[in-house]
Amino acid sequence: MIPAIFMRKKFFAMPNEQRKCLTCERIIHGRVDKKFCNDYCRSAFNNKKHLSDRGLIRRVNYLLLKNRYILEYFLKGSHPTATIMRKALSAKGFQFDFFTHTYHTADGKQYFCCYDHAYIELFNEELLITRIAARAESLFIPYNEFEQV
Ligand SMILES: [Zn+2]
Repeated sequence: MIPAIFMRKKFFAMPNEQRKCLTCERIIHGRVDKKFCNDYCRSAFNNKKHLSDRGLIRRVNYLLLKNRYILEYFLKGSHPTATIMRKALSAKGFQFDFFTHTYHTADGKQYFCCYDHAYIELFNEELLITRIAARAESLFIPYNEFEQV
């Protein structure tokens, strides 16, 4: 009897190992660079890949928009800025790993932006939330940095 470890495929691989279709795993005949046994398997594979790509994009878009609405919620109407504890954002489901871009001030501060809203770390887990002010020469500037630029 052959020990299980030697049953693993790589110990039995032939020099010209047979290629298998990436969709149905049947043996492929023909050109060396063929990856699928037929057009159906090729399009099934590509459709599945595109679907999962779209799923990821949709999920990231959802998280970014959700973050944006949470920031807006804490700005409460027309107030340009608000200070809030980091854990209050977390409690609303804010995902700190997801943001659309960053904004760096001349003095080295960094804002994390979700579309037209942004926040910056103050101290002791406190955050300042603000909106993004659009300017023609530099599109995304946090509202409270607006006058300084
Ligand atoms: Zn196939």
